[in-house]
Amino acid sequence: MPVLRRPPQPAVIELPPRKAEVAAETDVLVVGGGPAGIGAALGAAAAGSDVVVAERYGFLGGNATAALVMPLMSFHTQTPKAEKEGAVTLLPTDHGRGEAVIAGVVKTLLERLVKAGGATPPSLRTGYTVPFDPEIFKWVAMELLDEAGVHFLFHSFASEAIVENRTVNGVVFETKSGPVVIRARVVLDCTGDGDVAARAGAPFEIGRQEDRLVQPMTLMFRMVEFERRAFEAYVKGHPDQWKGVHGLWDLIRKASAAGELELPREDMLFFATPHEREVSVNSTRVTRVLGTDVWDLSYAEWQSRRQMRQIAAFLQRHVPGFEKSYAAQSGVNAGVRETRRIVGDYQLSVDDILNARKFPDVIARSTYPVDIHNPEGTGTLLRRVPAGESYDIPLRCLLPQDIEGLVVAGRCISGTHEAHSSYRVMPVSMATGQAAGACASLAAESGKLPREISASEVQAELVRQGADLGAAHGCLAQ
Ligand SMILES: Cc1cc2nc3c(=O)[nH]c(=O)nc-3n(C[C@H](O)[C@H](O)[C@H](O)COP(=O)(O)OP(=O)(O)OC[C@H]3O[C@@H](n4cnc5c(N)ncnc54)[C@H](O)[C@@H]3O)c2cc1C
Repeated sequence: MPVLRRPPQPAVIELPPRKAEVAAETDVLVVGGGPAGIGAALGAAAAGSDVVVAERYGFLGGNATAALVMPLMSFHTQTPKAEKEGAVTLLPTDHGRGEAVIAGVVKTLLERLVKAGGATPPSLRTGYTVPFDPEIFKWVAMELLDEAGVHFLFHSFASEAIVENRTVNGVVFETKSGPVVIRARVVLDCTGDGDVAARAGAPFEIGRQEDRLVQPMTLMFRMVEFERRAFEAYVKGHPDQWKGVHGLWDLIRKASAAGELELPREDMLFFATPHEREVSVNSTRVTRVLGTDVWDLSYAEWQSRRQMRQIAAFLQRHVPGFEKSYAAQSGVNAGVRETRRIVGDYQLSVDDILNARKFPDVIARSTYPVDIHNPEGTGTLLRRVPAGESYDIPLRCLLPQDIEGLVVAGRCISGTHEAHSSYRVMPVSMATGQAAGACASLAAESGKLPREISASEVQAELVRQGADLGAAHGCLAQ
């Protein structure tokens, strides 16, 4: 294998002490410009704060753009029929209408994407997901933050937290210009991996309780010149070989037996995009790797890119509709589903999700199922929120234990491995981001710590910003 693996007992050396330029002092610093970071920046700016977003890449979007994770998963309640059959679809279905439980910045982004011709609105046809174009997502997100007066620093990787008296007041970034520091009254960790919180000493958990294994990584890619009609005709003729967004079991078995495919998954998973002649392929799988380990990340890139090549060839050779298609683009990096889960004042559980539990300090809601891609091999576990229902995410899941001045949002908030598999999706990450931004801004403006801000203040600000926290907070269903 060409990639370096961690030496069994690596030598350790001392690094020389160094100085860093202070690039900015701001009310709210958002680290990471993915869905959570976009939501956080918009939430904090709308609440009246000066906001800086620092991001390791040269564009916004996180997994939505860098990893080509192209549909926003559904944030609508399930109908009984959809609950039984699975609402997400590549081909048209008849599942009846669900109600949106997220509004606020998700709604704003969605409207802008649709207006720019970069997304298909959620409907029966999309199974209430939102297929979008990642290039349009990049500039729409930047335009929204720009209009909100947010400042960006790109190409900046957060490597250290500056902590005094157990309170975070700045972050060190590695850049081409050397290390730079951004100081802030409140820091928001929207890195997906909880990098800042972990560096600041916040407690965290990784993976399943029994063995710390996390969900697999997946390199996403786009196949273009796809003939939808030919594929639909194949599916109609082989109804046992395709369900919603996944299938082709028999063809995969044959290709695997012939040595053409070496995949730890039994099916192909495709999503529609706003482009008629394109599908987004979510079918590579690299198990037993952790997205905060550089050796694992390197191995995952190598392995998933080999798998991608095999899958593209398999589709072209064996699947009607793909004969003339080709892989036009893969993610900048293999997509990382799960790493650190910061331990907060409350840890959301799978029972909270499956029982559609409500909390007095709700700051976001979700309907997305428990969705665990097997950390060890084939298979995916899906367990749905009851039809017509949603669950609440409490503010306490965003407040890391043992550390002040820091709020987390997105996929690294506090919950169990099983609960994470549900709240990790992008609309929910954006909604927790908006709540973290509102909380941070209220703290920065009043000179308090985020933990000292009451849930009712955050809720009032979120409702003022157009978020949907349910009927108990005066929000009407969308
Ligand atoms: C293969 C795959 C398929 C998925 N499918 C779907 C789907 O269909 N629909 C859906 O809604 N969700 C899906 N998800 C889940 C979803 O993409 C993520 O959980 C979601 O993007 C989390 O948002 P986030 O902002 O918390 O993190 P991320 O999207 O990971 O964004 C984190 C941002 O922080 C930046 N960053 C990270 N570390 C640092 C650092 N140290 N310094 C500076 N910047 C940093 C990153 O570059 C990135 O921009 C999928 C995920 C994967 C991996």
